[in-house]
Amino acid sequence: MVLKVHNTLTGRKDDFVPRDAGRVAMYVCGPTVYNYIHVGNARCYLTFDMVRRYLAFRGYDVLYAQNFTDVDDKIINAAAEQGIDPTVLTATFIEAFLEDMAALGVAPPDIAPLATEHISDMLEMIESLIDKGIAYVVDGDVYYEVAKFPAYGRLSHRDLADLQAGARVDVDSRKKAAPDFALWKSAKPGEPNWDSPWGKGRPGWHIECSAMSLKYLGFSFDIHGGGLDLIFPHHENEIAQAEGATGESPFVRYWLHNGFVTMSGEKMAKSVGNVIRVRDALAEAGPMAIRMLFLGTHYRSPIDFNADKLAEAGRAYDRLNNLVGNIDRIAAALDDKITVLTGAGKERQLLDALRSAEAAFVAAMDDDFNAPDALGAMFTVTREVNTFIKDRTRFSLDEIDALDEAKATLTRLGDALGLSFTGFAGSADVNFKADVDAKIAARQAAKAAKDWDAADRIRNDLALLDVVIEDTPEGTKWRVKKDG
Ligand SMILES: [Zn+2]
Repeated sequence: MVLKVHNTLTGRKDDFVPRDAGRVAMYVCGPTVYNYIHVGNARCYLTFDMVRRYLAFRGYDVLYAQNFTDVDDKIINAAAEQGIDPTVLTATFIEAFLEDMAALGVAPPDIAPLATEHISDMLEMIESLIDKGIAYVVDGDVYYEVAKFPAYGRLSHRDLADLQAGARVDVDSRKKAAPDFALWKSAKPGEPNWDSPWGKGRPGWHIECSAMSLKYLGFSFDIHGGGLDLIFPHHENEIAQAEGATGESPFVRYWLHNGFVTMSGEKMAKSVGNVIRVRDALAEAGPMAIRMLFLGTHYRSPIDFNADKLAEAGRAYDRLNNLVGNIDRIAAALDDKITVLTGAGKERQLLDALRSAEAAFVAAMDDDFNAPDALGAMFTVTREVNTFIKDRTRFSLDEIDALDEAKATLTRLGDALGLSFTGFAGSADVNFKADVDAKIAARQAAKAAKDWDAADRIRNDLALLDVVIEDTPEGTKWRVKKDG
């Protein structure tokens, strides 16, 4: 089967054929580091973390680069407002971003270049654009002349003539035409600046990504990702710069864009003022609930974010996690109610169900990373296993092996989506389970002796360990509350 990805450039799902067999080079536009990131920003990093993980699951060797934009108008303005040096501001928010990503379980990029450390690469590209007559200098500023790049508008499916005609009214007199954009901006007093052949100044935002992605991934790399809002003009301009400077095409083979996060139907954005910081959402619901919420909608579709959906996603995660915990309990025969039998059991049907669920998972993800359907395949596993273990206390060794296989399958598929299962908290820590079992036994003994205070005390101790107990006709059952 072939992986298909929706390519913004062609406007359809294309077969994914990387530049180099078995390897994928991908670049995602990183944050502009002047504030904490919000849930809308995080969707992009979670989306491409999923893409990267699934490609690795499919056996590709993935090289992932994601930049930090650490020089920009927003940074300069925010630093000026706070009366601090821009480098202090960017260092603070690079750190905060790294913390948020780690807390979300997003794997760090292989390469995380800083724009300010790649000024010479950008200058080189700008000079080559000037040499080719595609860029022009006006009083220390350098502009890209969009009319010199006939393919302009191909990614965003806009017509260059329309862009030029439509924007004529607000033409900056310094530019030859309205769609022309800045490659280099001359320094204003007090701004960070670097020497250039055109005087002191700083790079435009768009040139950063062209220069850094080409430097680390080479021409015609495989996947360039970002949010939908970056298609125009940012990614359009990245193509114009990279293909203009090299005279070759395509700069990038597949352009992937994730949808927006909305709140009550409106795009989550700092400018709208309806943002929820990642760290607040993490404190509210934990990383797995946030990830489940995003995985539950196709990455290209919008998601409306609210507390109810977050809680619902957390419960869906719990269903998967609890199943892994139940398998642990049976497989380790920790519950003294479980009896291990010799001889054959009904493991065949469970193993068959696992195989077909995994095939369904792969088919869904191969279809442009259809994570909602892939999750559906994982929930098929939970249903199958729950049916398999329902009301049973006696299992054959082969059946326990099959249950272990179910756990391994869920773990493997979860990993391809960035979902990790602790099963019993303390990550399958046998001491923890033994400890809980001992406490439950002590509580049973206390109840038998009608020492209700002691029984309650033990129940409270267990609650502190996040263990929820339930007295049933079959005995006391326990599970661990969700992580986070
Ligand atoms: Zn970019």
